[in-house]
Amino acid sequence: MTEHRRRPILVVDDRVTNRYVVTRILEEAGYPILEASTGMEALRLARQAPALVVLDVHLPDINDFEVCTRLKADPKTASIPVLHLSASFVSPEAQAHGLNAGADGYLTHPIEPPVLTATVQALLRTREAEQALRAKEAELRAQAAELQAANRELAEQTAQTQALAERLARLQAVTAQLAGALTVEQIAAVVLTQVLPTLGAEGGALYVMHERDTLRLAHHQGYPAAAMPGWDRPLALDERLPVCHSVRTGEPLVLPDLDAWRRTFPEFAELHRQAGYEGAAILPCRSHERVEGAISLSFREACHFGSAEWELAEAVTQQCAQALQRVRLFEAERRVRAEAEAANLAKMQFLTMMSHELRTPLNAIAGYADLLDLGIHGPVSDAQREALLRIKRSQEHLLGLINDVLNFAKLEAGQVQFSESVFAVREVLADALALIEPQRRAKNLALSYELCSPRTRLRADREKVEQVVLNLLTNAVKFTEQGSVTLVCETQGESVLLHVRDTGIGIPAEKRAAIFEPFVQVDHRLTRTAHGTGLGLAISRDLARAMGGELSVESEEGVGSTFTLRLPGAREEGEPPGEVAARVPA
Ligand code: ADP
Repeated sequence: MTEHRRRPILVVDDRVTNRYVVTRILEEAGYPILEASTGMEALRLARQAPALVVLDVHLPDINDFEVCTRLKADPKTASIPVLHLSASFVSPEAQAHGLNAGADGYLTHPIEPPVLTATVQALLRTREAEQALRAKEAELRAQAAELQAANRELAEQTAQTQALAERLARLQAVTAQLAGALTVEQIAAVVLTQVLPTLGAEGGALYVMHERDTLRLAHHQGYPAAAMPGWDRPLALDERLPVCHSVRTGEPLVLPDLDAWRRTFPEFAELHRQAGYEGAAILPCRSHERVEGAISLSFREACHFGSAEWELAEAVTQQCAQALQRVRLFEAERRVRAEAEAANLAKMQFLTMMSHELRTPLNAIAGYADLLDLGIHGPVSDAQREALLRIKRSQEHLLGLINDVLNFAKLEAGQVQFSESVFAVREVLADALALIEPQRRAKNLALSYELCSPRTRLRADREKVEQVVLNLLTNAVKFTEQGSVTLVCETQGESVLLHVRDTGIGIPAEKRAAIFEPFVQVDHRLTRTAHGTGLGLAISRDLARAMGGELSVESEEGVGSTFTLRLPGAREEGEPPGEVAARVPA
């Protein structure tokens, strides 16, 4: 209402008195007034947007119906309410005529001021409500349009998300399948099966690097035989071929249509067309700066790669390169391993032959020395007997050395057979102790031992266990000048532990790991007098490990060493693996 109060009311009447009466009534009600005396003037002033037009029925130039019709036809004035005033009685038909022309109300003279004011107010209120309604409608329409736009955007986003999910699913499929691919052909089949439909290609091939400067076709899909004449031959990298170009440069090469082919590789354009293709793309597979191969794709129509396609292509080619690299390294490793195994076998055969060749004359030396010793070739003087003894010791030493070397070579080549059985540890320990008795007595060393109970058993190769224990005891005596050698057996959970302790020279910390390596000796001068090859511990540890155990050492220089052989105990149902027996004095 305030809005309309500020806008004037246009009062149209050719008679001044009539205009005066109406104007007074409305001014008193607080409305500003514009006045017109003719129809044409009314039309002109109406364009100044009055709040309402009060229109006399009889005008001198154009009649009020005409004025009303024109007002309603002009978009600038169409929304202004029009109130007809008539000096005389107007028949209902005539009123209907006026209303048809667009009038919003009718009043006849004599004009009652309250009626006029009330009618004007009512008309203005109605118009205001109408306008508010229209504004609301426009607002709703705008909201509806916004909603539609938002819906469209959502649909687009959903489509994009779906496409992304599909690409991700493809990529996951590629990753999962590539993980199980063990050959180049399997990799190629996985990659092409996934890439062709995703990028819309009809033909595809995977080329892989073969040696340093050659490409070889690993697999192709979707190409008719005629489209691949001679492509399965090795391709030199410097050949003028799209795939060689792409691998050489490490960059993707897209030939979107035949025109591009004609411009770039005219010699192949016709072949490509005859095979029924238009576009092509070659994607190099790189991993860590190394090109492992390339995927070549052909399209029946011109091909256009969007950012989504590039992203997928890049991810797949990278995975493909990694898989190719894995297979390449795996094959190289297999080749090297096979070569090493062959070399090992050859070494083994050589050693077996050599040891046989050496053992025969060595046995002959021992045999002849014995014959001489027995006096078969005449009487033997004391000095000669002494010399014969040295010959025999040296022969035994040499024979032991050859046996050690042969044993170690056999272990390394995995050619040692283990015959497993269950036996009481105690028996083995007693046998080994008996064997070192002469050396121990000769050096006047004390011996103490704690043997396990007869129920403590091992599941292992009895002979090999004895060999290891004997080696440890022999070393203990060999490297101890005074004091004692101790053998302790104990059980620990499922394991049986055998400790060989001595009060000898000990092993410097920096050598403790190395002594288990073949041919390593801490002090060569010492072992030269004490005999040895530096193979005993290497063999012993290999044997221990092969039987599921371990050999370790603790030592202090000048104080002594403790070697511990750990082996899995054998448990029979319903009984513990073993128990420690009471100490048996030396
Ligand atoms: P070998 O006894 O034939 O030299 P081993 O492999 O049995 O070969 O031992 C390697 C080296 O480890 C020995 O030469 C010696 O230096 C050191 N070693 C082994 N056992 C002991 C020990 N009980 N005390 C001190 N040093 C030892």
